[in-house]
Amino acid sequence: MTVTQVAAYAAPAAKAPLERTTVPRRPVGAHDVLIDIKYAGICHSDIHQVRDGWGEGLYPMVPGHEIAGVVAEVGPEVTRFAVGDRVGVGCIVDTCRTCEYCLAGQEQYCVEGITGTYNAVDRQGERTYGGYSSHIVVDENYTVRIPDGLALDVAAPLLCAGITLYSPLKHWQAGPGKKVAVVGLGGLGHMGVKIAHALGAEVTVLSQSLRKREDGLKLGASHYYATSDETTFEKLAGSFDLILSTVSAPLDLGAYLGLLRVDGALVNVGAPEEPVALNLFSVIGGRKTLAGSMIGGIAETQEMLDFCAEHGLGSEIELIRADEVNEAYERVLASDVRYRFVIDASTI
Ligand SMILES: [Zn+2]
Ligand SMILES: [Zn+2]
Repeated sequence: MTVTQVAAYAAPAAKAPLERTTVPRRPVGAHDVLIDIKYAGICHSDIHQVRDGWGEGLYPMVPGHEIAGVVAEVGPEVTRFAVGDRVGVGCIVDTCRTCEYCLAGQEQYCVEGITGTYNAVDRQGERTYGGYSSHIVVDENYTVRIPDGLALDVAAPLLCAGITLYSPLKHWQAGPGKKVAVVGLGGLGHMGVKIAHALGAEVTVLSQSLRKREDGLKLGASHYYATSDETTFEKLAGSFDLILSTVSAPLDLGAYLGLLRVDGALVNVGAPEEPVALNLFSVIGGRKTLAGSMIGGIAETQEMLDFCAEHGLGSEIELIRADEVNEAYERVLASDVRYRFVIDASTI
């Protein structure tokens, strides 16, 4: 078997618009599956990376780590998948597999670092290219099954947005009797609302304005407050067991920590590019936790997909053609999407 060229949308250089091209995919190895990509979600971090927001990128860059498709070929030693299976790939395509975190199913915190689905060099020294493409070859151990109950288009964003919210909600035990606030109602936040509600928690959305209030309540929130209204912080002081911040704009952390109950946690899954300042009395009083969380492990991603299928939770999406991707990026930056763009890979 030889390396094949596959159709893709790539940024040829930093900050350049994406354009149609071809990229190489490795031969299907013993433990690999070849996936015929059907849909790829557009994550905010795709835009950060093609625009060098997170440091120097590798070009041409094919973004996309919210991949849903169908297995087209399997390597001779693949045991978990067969041709025709509906599968997904998220942000991780390899890790060391031997460190304590990999062995515990927390591959996202691998001590050697993850091999990213794109904008990375894999452990064999080859460049990785993401999901804005017709096909991808991935080790079966970093591939997950998409249950029949989930349509592939609304499942794609779960591979990053879904797991990014599911993992901290589970870790901090969101469930019946717990009050959870989600800061920001975008691609990440709307999945946080859906999943927290399905877990049985009482959910509040904290958004800059009340513009998306009706959506928020429909998605599963019981309450919706505008953070631009100063009285919100007085009214809700000491209310929440868990606050998940999905925004990358700088937050007044002290103000949000003030909304937690004793032993509550403020968990960041979005991060501003600049360092933040904090008066530590805002965590000392009330024994509070300021934390972060990054995507989730492979087994946990499977658990999340099974949970979403069981509860009928997909992402709210706007399906686009591949040649609309540059326009979609501008709309994501303007927060003009409800709630995730998904590329129909048949148009690549
Ligand atoms: Zn992402
Ligand atoms: Zn590891």
